[in-house]
Amino acid sequence: MIKHTLLSAIFLILVLSCNNDKPINLSIAKKEVKEYYDSGKFDEEIKLVVDEAIEKLKNVKFNENSTVVFDIDETALSGYDYALQIDFGYDLDSWTEWQLKADAPAIQDVKRLYDYLVDKNVYIVFLTGKRDVTCESAYNNLIEAGYTKIDTLICRSKDEYKLKAEEYKAYHRKELTEAGFEIIMSVGDQKSDLVGEFTGIKVKIPNYLYTIH
Ligand SMILES: [Mg+2]
Repeated sequence: MIKHTLLSAIFLILVLSCNNDKPINLSIAKKEVKEYYDSGKFDEEIKLVVDEAIEKLKNVKFNENSTVVFDIDETALSGYDYALQIDFGYDLDSWTEWQLKADAPAIQDVKRLYDYLVDKNVYIVFLTGKRDVTCESAYNNLIEAGYTKIDTLICRSKDEYKLKAEEYKAYHRKELTEAGFEIIMSVGDQKSDLVGEFTGIKVKIPNYLYTIH
């Protein structure tokens, strides 16, 4: 009897582990992501991340060189409407077209963090993987969404198109640091926003729409 129970348990574990190797059905995954965003749970998750970031900032001594680096897509601005428009995924042409409209809304809790930092008179850098062709739209979109203090906006130049995201971002953080800016915090939705040197406090904004490798 014990042997039979043991064998049944092993069989069950094997079945479960086999099932775990299989991916979730794509339609179900999209539905779950949409429900998570639409229900307000996604916003709740970001609120907690920002609350924690502000708590950490309370221990920071700000000076005249204190600088914060914000990513833009899925950090300062939400591309969720675009994701719905194309039923998730990525397509460079439609993405470029959408960016040129410059009407992405702010992610409100990230805006709350930004407002806190603006109030502390911190130097605000937006460092984005967006290409130079959409940089002016990005600037206009940020202003329109309420990010009216933009001290520096850095977009990818043509010779940086092929750089890996983390290399591109680390390069510009180093450049800023060497120019005398002290980066006290980096805020981004991708790991590549937060790896390497000169990040300061790392604030990871959740993103269930895509991952940049
Ligand atoms: Mg991003």
